[in-house]
Amino acid sequence: MSNAKAQVLIIEDEPEIAELIEFHAERAGMRPRKVHSGRLAMDLIRREKPDVIVLDLMLPDLDGLEICRKLKQSDDTRSIPIVMVTAKGEESDVVAGIELGADDYVTKPFSPRVLMARLRNVLRRAGVIEDAPASGERMIMVDGRLIIDIDRHEVLCEGKKTDLTLTEFGILHYLASRPGFVRTRDQIISAVHGKSTVLSSRTVDVHITALRRKIGELSECVETVRGVGYRFADSGMDDA
Ligand code: CA
Repeated sequence: MSNAKAQVLIIEDEPEIAELIEFHAERAGMRPRKVHSGRLAMDLIRREKPDVIVLDLMLPDLDGLEICRKLKQSDDTRSIPIVMVTAKGEESDVVAGIELGADDYVTKPFSPRVLMARLRNVLRRAGVIEDAPASGERMIMVDGRLIIDIDRHEVLCEGKKTDLTLTEFGILHYLASRPGFVRTRDQIISAVHGKSTVLSSRTVDVHITALRRKIGELSECVETVRGVGYRFADSGMDDA
């Protein structure tokens, strides 16, 4: 882990949006660089290996999803986190991008603060910037109001033991292991499949409903992302 500024590559053909992201990334202590075409971006990424990529999905020359696919297929670039920028109504592209390996996304018009929070989040996960200290076998979430004891398969809500089924536990653990990251139903299925039961996309919703009921007031931590999937709320993120 280095103290050097995180290098952010902004792939965006709309100059105003690219400048907006650049401005906020600089203010957030990152080192942004912007490029307006997919082809230029591919050359630059191979040469310079940025720490994180902000990828507009609608580019004039290369399809953003194609860029994502290429980067995730190559050993050299696979580990670079990607945050997609999409237009409203492109939810199916978001799902496709996440399944290709993109880490997160924002939808235009987006709040720069939310985008910066997402970037910090992926940079933390990638080990580029300091992460919170590991909590061992227990995950302490929401300022200690939710404790997930991984070894014992136990969940404490507001200090009270809460009985979850194995599937509910698996889903909660999976979502909570990356707060702020949206997961598609298919990803949830592959993560918890086989541990207890066979899941279909529809039964994921049923388990989530049951899980939310059991964790009561904390249920708002399990957010529905319309058209995409679910995510555990990032309490460090101010969703302005
Ligand atoms: Ca565009």
